[in-house]
Amino acid sequence: MTSYLEMTIGKQKNIALIAHDGKKADMIAWCERNKEILQKHFLCGTGTTARMITEKTGLPVRGYNSGPLGGDQQIGAKIVEGQIDFVVFFSDPLTAQPHDPDVKALLRIAQVYDIPIANNIASADFMIHSTFMDQEYEHKIIDFHQNIKKRAEELKGE
Ligand code: PGA
Repeated sequence: MTSYLEMTIGKQKNIALIAHDGKKADMIAWCERNKEILQKHFLCGTGTTARMITEKTGLPVRGYNSGPLGGDQQIGAKIVEGQIDFVVFFSDPLTAQPHDPDVKALLRIAQVYDIPIANNIASADFMIHSTFMDQEYEHKIIDFHQNIKKRAEELKGE
């Protein structure tokens, strides 16, 4: 049986912001529109997105590498480490991306860790106006220590 760990998304969220080039203007407009809410939280993002948001809105956004150079993977790793708990990712569904595997990996890891992730304006609006934005939120994620122990034991027996 899979065991789960109870985890808490804090009142102050660690929000990652990512936008493909065709969606950067949408992201900046969305951040501007939701500036009052966003400034209550910790913001980070892929390199170019983070820089442009800060330049245009004045919001402090910690920048990781640019997406095609590993930024999405850095954000995925932070989710695994419990350091990012909310993601707004405006991907471009009409343009091929060189880092498509990284994009998929980020979506997958957010799903594994039960992290709220919005991939268009409407879902981002619904998420940012949720009552959970001002509260702690308890959720369950797979207990990875237990999972490793169980798998190592099972595989030993083969
Ligand atoms: P960027 O990366 O913010 O550096 O443009 C975003 C992405 O393409 O994933």
